[in-house]
Amino acid sequence: MIRLTKSVETPPSLLVVGNSTYNQQDVVSQLIEDHKGKCYLCERICITDYEIEHLKSSANKRELNTSWDNLFLSCSYCNRKKLQLFDNIVNPTTQNIEEIIQCVHLAENKNICFCSNELENQQVEETINLLHRIF
Ligand SMILES: [Zn+2]
Repeated sequence: MIRLTKSVETPPSLLVVGNSTYNQQDVVSQLIEDHKGKCYLCERICITDYEIEHLKSSANKRELNTSWDNLFLSCSYCNRKKLQLFDNIVNPTTQNIEEIIQCVHLAENKNICFCSNELENQQVEETINLLHRIF
């Protein structure tokens, strides 16, 4: 998983009143630019198989379907592994991925985790489970 800084400006198509689509060209282009073309989960550069991935799945969080903060670029493989089964993974735009990776290594090596709080521990555990499913 990569740490991301997404553009502050929401792509215009998401702001249109009554809009229910999240995959207009402006959204795709902005995500590709923000992610530098990489899938945020497996970190592979997506040449043609990129998809828009919902951090919190639209199946479970319909109201976040067109929320810019909830949209990420992933490859089709990772998107199909994640589905609506991993809605509580860490957020690569707001959480410190480097610290979490350290935490993951500690958890795997010593079966312990030094994350600062229980919520983050749950997110890290779910992220580990998803990444095991992907790799
Ligand atoms: Zn991927």
